[in-house]
Amino acid sequence: MRVLVVEDEKRFAAALRDGLEAEGFAVDVAGDGGEGLWLVRENPYDVLVLDIMLPGMSGYTLCAKLRAEGVWTPILMLTAKDGEWDEVDGLDSGADDYLTKPFSYAVLLARLRALLRRGARPRPAVLTAGKLRLDPAVHRVWRGESEVELTAREHALLEFLMRRAGEVVGKLEIVGHVWDVNFDGDPNIVEVYVRRLRTKLGADAIETVRGAGYRLTGD
Ligand code: CA
Repeated sequence: MRVLVVEDEKRFAAALRDGLEAEGFAVDVAGDGGEGLWLVRENPYDVLVLDIMLPGMSGYTLCAKLRAEGVWTPILMLTAKDGEWDEVDGLDSGADDYLTKPFSYAVLLARLRALLRRGARPRPAVLTAGKLRLDPAVHRVWRGESEVELTAREHALLEFLMRRAGEVVGKLEIVGHVWDVNFDGDPNIVEVYVRRLRTKLGADAIETVRGAGYRLTGD
């Protein structure tokens, strides 16, 4: 497996390279974000290790840029102990995991193996389907250019349907994911909420598939 380490502290980067090579990884090292970006565009990496504090482009920015370009290679962020890392910002920028320095190689390797198992399937921070766009981090939804105001439950239902866009999802499955364990009401509640979403998003945004459930098109 091929890994890119983007880290400006040369000795630390060299130690990482040696450690990972000893485990059988093919390792490239970039000393700043710009070089990292160039290498990722040129090479098929299986996993990326990004330091946050880099000269020029930060690890956050590099991560967000890669995700915006449709690069879904798993990303592990490295952070110092002094609180430079904001977990929320980092994960919202599209990182998959993070480690605080100093860390043990055993932990680093375990995290990298977990990320490699996950693979590079798309997992966008902002969901899109048809004309719809939903940002789970800030709980905002747009249809085309206009923002749509949703209640918390409407938002939760739409997010679930958008994560499964194009698939038929049954009422019971929806209830299981969008309502909590205390909900023991009628699964037809889903119909009520789908109707509300159609009113706000357009009648064609969610199709009814008779006897099976709903399919989000976003149209
Ligand atoms: Ca650094």
